[in-house]
Amino acid sequence: MIARVRELQARGVRVLDLTAGEPDFAPPAAAVEGALAAIAGNKGRYTAASGMPELRVEVARMIEAEFGIQYGPDQIVVTAGAKIAIAQALLNLVDPGDQVLIPSPYWTSYPEMVKLAEGVPVTVPCDAAFLPRVSALDAAWTPRTRVLLLNSPNNPTGAVYPAALLREIGAWAIGRGVAVISDEIYASLTYGDARHVSPLAAAPELQRTSVWIGGMSKAYAMTGWRMGFLAAPPDLARAVANMQSQLASSPNAISQHASLAALRGGGAERARMRDAFAARARIVTAALRAIPGLTYPEPAGAFYAFPRLGGYLGRKDPATGRVIRSGEDLVETLLEADQVAVMGGGGFGASDAVRLSFAASEEVLRVALERFRTRLAALQV
Ligand code: PLP
Repeated sequence: MIARVRELQARGVRVLDLTAGEPDFAPPAAAVEGALAAIAGNKGRYTAASGMPELRVEVARMIEAEFGIQYGPDQIVVTAGAKIAIAQALLNLVDPGDQVLIPSPYWTSYPEMVKLAEGVPVTVPCDAAFLPRVSALDAAWTPRTRVLLLNSPNNPTGAVYPAALLREIGAWAIGRGVAVISDEIYASLTYGDARHVSPLAAAPELQRTSVWIGGMSKAYAMTGWRMGFLAAPPDLARAVANMQSQLASSPNAISQHASLAALRGGGAERARMRDAFAARARIVTAALRAIPGLTYPEPAGAFYAFPRLGGYLGRKDPATGRVIRSGEDLVETLLEADQVAVMGGGGFGASDAVRLSFAASEEVLRVALERFRTRLAALQV
């Protein structure tokens, strides 16, 4: 989709792009200053495989302050982004043939990572509010189930899992001997009444078996700096660090210095970005409310809305002659007829939905969502 958008833009077409999976903000000034000082000070050398000790101390402090979970610095591994942290957790926890439960809709990369670890991804349908239910998890459980991958705030649905639900899921996972990998990369981005709670804080017993994942990408608009954090029981953290030592030697030293500076001094900019996303979430919510027939929970976290198309499926678009049978068909039509780019839900396990990212300016959001509304209204039964 990104390639298609770029190609159109290169031909001079003004595309209203709601596909972005990264914040459209600059990183905190502290990160830039930290990076420049590290370069000038010749700090660009290998670090400890698990990351610089002072950064691990800072990450442990941040996790305790923001999530209420206590880790020692030896339980933290700094990685080149949350993505590889999740992959390394899976590679360490999953033996060939082990099953990994993935609530659906899900982030596109999860099933592929599980397959890389020679595991078997098992998708588990969420309820209408895009929440995973214990009954559905238990129905999918087998003696080969090893890991449950949780992601709240969620990409692509924007759902934020309530604490009571996390307590239930945590009790179930402990009872069934299932480890949780909790991807909390969007933790700082929640809106309205939604509050992020870590499953490892809701059900503290999980801390003995499970893995917390976070990073700089979404909270500090530092996607390309590639900085992720993993926190785990000591043995598992050590195994991940040993693996990382063979795979990557160490995470990028300059980005580690930048991240340390941003964690210490980037809080105000992080809060401003969150407030801007909150304002956009309100715009998206109001725009979606004005469209009858879509089903979705209001976006509560991350920066996505994920409406299901319901009765619009099967209708015909008069401008292109296309019958809209899936989110992907609507994506093609919107791009062709309205120069609006969104993602189809198929890659996230829900082909009847589209993902709208609000990592775009308020003006782009307003115009794009109005075109979205008009297009749906024009579809013929
Ligand atoms: N987890 C989820 C749910 C994501 O959406 C993303 C990025 O889009 C990541 C992890 C990866 O983050 P990072 O840039 O830290 O690798």
